[in-house]
Amino acid sequence: MNPGNAAAHAPEYVRGIAPYVGGKPIEELAREMNLDPATIVKLASNENPRGPSPRVREAIAEAARELNRYPDGNGYALKAALAARLARGPDGIVLGNGSNDVLELVTQAFLRPGDHAVWSQHAFIVYPLATRARGAIGTEVPAKDHGHDLDAMLAAITPRTRVVFVANPNNPTGTWLPSAAVESFVAAVPRDVLVVLDEAYDDFLEPGDQSGAVDWVGRYPHLIVSRTFSKAHGLAGLRVGFGVMDAAVADLLNRVRQPFNVNSLAQAAAIAALEDSGYVEESRRMNREGMRVLETGFARHGLRFLPSHGNFVLVRVGDAQRVYQSLLAQGVIVRPVANYGLPEWLRVTVGLPQENERFLAALAQALGTGAGVAAGAHR
Ligand SMILES: *Cc1c(COP(=O)(O)O)cnc(C)c1O
Repeated sequence: MNPGNAAAHAPEYVRGIAPYVGGKPIEELAREMNLDPATIVKLASNENPRGPSPRVREAIAEAARELNRYPDGNGYALKAALAARLARGPDGIVLGNGSNDVLELVTQAFLRPGDHAVWSQHAFIVYPLATRARGAIGTEVPAKDHGHDLDAMLAAITPRTRVVFVANPNNPTGTWLPSAAVESFVAAVPRDVLVVLDEAYDDFLEPGDQSGAVDWVGRYPHLIVSRTFSKAHGLAGLRVGFGVMDAAVADLLNRVRQPFNVNSLAQAAAIAALEDSGYVEESRRMNREGMRVLETGFARHGLRFLPSHGNFVLVRVGDAQRVYQSLLAQGVIVRPVANYGLPEWLRVTVGLPQENERFLAALAQALGTGAGVAAGAHR
């Protein structure tokens, strides 16, 4: 017996995973810098700075009275609400502990060690993470103008490919592909390969640009559309998302998920959030205005940014680690994206008006103390 060596016996594909690095929590920065948490501005995780709507908060308080009970493991009421809203049967809806859970379930149900998946360079990092956790391998297809190159992704599909991930809009780049291009892609993908279309930011698109992909599922049984309540609905802390797909695919995902993967507060909150479309509209409007403020601020410094279709924007600052650290010291948390292959960029979530102004003032300070950074980043 070789005591203490259990970790070394984990599969090499698990030991090889680089852990997910999220946005720095407010409390952590408060401890590290000895700051009052109430003064810290966090623009690092694409959360809705308004939080959930008042009606949703009420629904959560109401549901909290039954916390001794297990949640409905089948999510009957939430699925019924989603089915009515999306004009789909509840059998084709899978609920997740965040949409991240849905992505994980797809890899769990469909990827064996040695199987193959496809994603884009600069795409959401959970795709490679979830793929590698199954011992599967992936091809990261070079991006085109920082966005997905769908033709190249199609060409990367091999006989071993089981899953292709497409984020639209994509995080962290904010790039977006019109529905027609995405549908042509889905139509061209072989039917024995699942297309996971991650639409976490769809609610931030102008109504005319919003995806109709949920309606394609009837025609494309190899399509899975994932959505979340974490972003526009302001429920990131509760963890609830869902996937829409063919009922036979949903059945498989439901077999591998935890029996109670979506907690009861999350289910109640999501139902209330669906009924409160006015709140999402207002969040979209505020996001659009905040985005203009950030873009104007970047332009003032001569900083390049990528026009974004989400609630966040990538800006090229040069020495991103130095600017990030300077912002932290000023109580502003943004997101470095070197792990996305973008070492000179920072991702900034659109905040409330006063948060955007705090960030821009801190950015000016950060750039002012590093001679030449702003000019060097200008292209
Ligand atoms: C935030 C995000 C998600 C989902 O997050 P959950 O909180 O797990 O629903 C999924 N995809 C992308 C691209 C995201 O940025």
